[in-house]
Formats: sequence, C-alpha cells, structure tokens
Amino acid sequence: MLHDVVIVGAGPVGSTLALSLAAGDIDVVVLDARPAGHSARGDRSLALSHGARLILERVGIWSALSAIPGALTPIARIDISQAGGFGRTELTAKEHDVPALGYVVRYRSLQEALDAALARSSVAMRHGATVTAVRGAVEHAAIEIADEGSEATTAPIAPIIARLAAVADGTGDAMAFTARQRHDYGQVALVAKLSCAAPHDGTAFERFTPHGPMALLPEHDGHGLVWTATPARAQELLALSDAEFLKELTRHFGARSARFTHVAERRTFPLVMEYAREPARARCVALGNAAQTLHPVAGQGFNLGLRDAWELAQIVLDTPRDEIGGDAMLSRYSRRRRTDRMAGIAFTHGLVRLFGNDLPLLRWPRGLALTLLDAVPVAKRAFTRAMLFGVR
Ligand SMILES: Cc1cc2nc3c(=O)[nH]c(=O)nc-3n(C[C@H](O)[C@H](O)[C@H](O)COP(=O)(O)OP(=O)(O)OC[C@H]3O[C@@H](n4cnc5c(N)ncnc54)[C@H](O)[C@@H]3O)c2cc1C
Repeated sequence: MLHDVVIVGAGPVGSTLALSLAAGDIDVVVLDARPAGHSARGDRSLALSHGARLILERVGIWSALSAIPGALTPIARIDISQAGGFGRTELTAKEHDVPALGYVVRYRSLQEALDAALARSSVAMRHGATVTAVRGAVEHAAIEIADEGSEATTAPIAPIIARLAAVADGTGDAMAFTARQRHDYGQVALVAKLSCAAPHDGTAFERFTPHGPMALLPEHDGHGLVWTATPARAQELLALSDAEFLKELTRHFGARSARFTHVAERRTFPLVMEYAREPARARCVALGNAAQTLHPVAGQGFNLGLRDAWELAQIVLDTPRDEIGGDAMLSRYSRRRRTDRMAGIAFTHGLVRLFGNDLPLLRWPRGLALTLLDAVPVAKRAFTRAMLFGVR
C-alpha cells in the first residue's frame, strides 16, 4: 500500500507535523520506536518561543498543555549580561506586546498532550516501530522497520512505502544518505534543576562568561540551569557536593541571580552543531533536530524544528495528492525554509563564537553589542522578533 506521508519519529516535531496534516484528507502514518505512553526524553525541559506557542495553538494542544500542572512556565523578561565586562540588555514581554517572550515546557508534558491529540486524530500511530533505514527513489520512499512489538528485534520486515518520508527522529540517523555538516564546540552543557529562596518572577538570565554562556530559566517553582564548560571542568562540577556546587554557581552567576537553596538532577550532554546540507531530496525530508541540532545558547533549535513541521504541513496540504513528495514540492519546501534555517544556524553559531570564549579583546565589542542592543529600539525590536518568530 502506498501511503501519502510516513513520519519517522513522534517526538514534539514529528507529532506537530502529524497533527498539522490531520487537517487534510491525506493518509498519514507515524512510526516511533518508543512504546505507547512512554516519553523518549522525559527529564528534559524545552525553551518555547512565542511563535512556537502559536503553532501549538493552531494544532489544538495549547489549552491541554496549559491544563497540566507545572507543564509550562512563562518567561516575562530575559536579562542578558556578560561577566567581567560592561554591557547588559533586558527584553520584556510588555515592551513587545506579547503575553510572554517564551515558555519553559516540560518535554514529558508536551509529549503527553501531543500523544493524546494524536490518539484522537485520523492519523495512524504505530508505537514500538524502530526504523532502520529510509531510502528515497523517484517513485516513492521505502521505510524499513525492525519490529512492531515493544521489544525490537533485528529481523527485517517488508518496508513501508510512501510518497513522502518525513524524518523527525532527533538525529537524522534513519536518513543516513544525507551529507551533514558538523562542528564540535569541545564543550558540554551541564543541566540541573535548582530551588531558590524566593519564588522567581518569570525572569530568565543569559550570562556570557569567559568560559562559555550560562542560562537560568524560570521553571515551575524553581529554575532550570544550563552551564557550558569544558568536559573536564564539567566532571569537576558533577563531583562537587550539592552545597559546593551551589557556591560555585553563585560565584559564576554573579549577584543578579536568585539565592539558590537546592540542586537536583545534574547531568551533561555534548555541545555540537550538526545540520543536513540538503534536508529535502528524493522523496525524503529531515526536520527538527534531524535536520539541525544547534547549541542551546539562544534556544533556537527546537523552535526552528516546530517551524519546519508547520511549514512542511502547509506545503503538503497545498500540493495535489499525486505530487506529494515530488521534486517540485521538495524544492518549494527547501526554498521556503532556507532563510529561517540558515539564519538560525548562523545566529546561534555566531553568538557562541562572539560570546563563548575568554579572549579579553572581545570583551569590548561584546559589551558594545549588548549596549547598542539595549539603546537602539529598532535593533532591539528586530533582535526580539527573531527570537520570537525566527528570521524571515
Ligand atoms: C541531550 C540533549 C539535551 C537537550 N536539552 C535541551 C534543553 O534543555 N532545552 C531545549 O530547549 N532543548 C534541548 N535539547 C534539544 C531538544 O531536545 C530538541 O530540540 C527536541 O527534542 C527536538 O525534537 P524532535 O522531535 O526533532 O526530536 P526528539 O525530541 O529527539 O524526538 C525524536 C523521536 O523519534 C523517535 N525515534 C528516534 N529514532 C527512531 C527510529 N530509528 N525509529 C523510530 N523512531 C525513532 C524517538 O523515540 C523520539 O520520540 C536537547 C538535546 C539533546 C540532544
């Protein structure tokens, strides 16, 4: 049987694509390796922009998500500063006439709301289906799966055939034929949950230190921490007692931050930038983290992924059924996404390059950049719009 669209991966990006497509009269199948009711990346929190909220509203899950206790924390202000140098700026939701600049959302809650909406939709969802390869050809894409049960085996079964394979597996591994550009920052992100003496007021802090950027995000009744460091330094920080860790954190974050009382769930992940040079070709398209994995410094990666999903769905719904996945449709998608995607990649990489090093000579231009951003309303508005909605 020839399906119209097969989506590989029902993480936040693949599920958003599936729900966006459910509005149309097309045959969509979603495959995910995880068993039903499980979340692949349960302990993670994601930074959602205001633009991403609008997408989740359009696919009809925002109110369900808001109803889950502690799932969403609005960001009312972002305080951006650099350690050991002048320059500081502050972005506020009020100034930009939006209810919040963004939200910190629990991955598990987001997945729960998306799964529930998918179960109510016309989309066919298959859990426990581990995709081993996606192959594109002129007529169709072939999606090979290892098993449909909750325990994967290596025995191959007949491939699934589709006009379009949309790969949102978080890595792009299923679509291994795509050439990828990779840059290893040689650093890791240490993430943790923090409790503070006083409740937060919705302020997120982004602080550029000589050793790399640090972020403190309001999260439920505490804060989420993202601290970039060399792998060796991160190991030292992981080995500290809770009390020593909090002391070290206060020293690095400066007086601006809240008074920390407790730390939990310390862990690290490597920081790389990786993106597919050509995310759409031969009846296959990579989207979300499968298309681009970015440094978390500006919280751009996940939001770019949601925009990939929304825009791909609009193009598919606007294409006659027998042209779905064809070269003309894929070129249209690539053209539509190029600016936003490349600007998001360049913006994030540029920020890490300018702010994420200990060259004293760069402190002055960094301070100047932050001061100008604060003092020039047009620059500030353009910067905030890019953070909220992406670059057009
Ligand atoms: C270690 C790590 C920590 C991160 N922490 C943060 C953070 O703190 N804040 C933030 O904003 N962003 C964070 N990110 C980025 C964020 O997780 C991603 O932007 C977001 O999860 C991308 O969503 P996605 O749907 O593209 O992929 P994913 O969320 O990775 O979802 C992929 C889905 O595909 C399924 N899948 C995978 N392989 C297969 C296969 N072969 N066959 C079938 N199904 C498959 C998985 O089960 C999963 O459901 C982090 C990323 C990493 C790698």
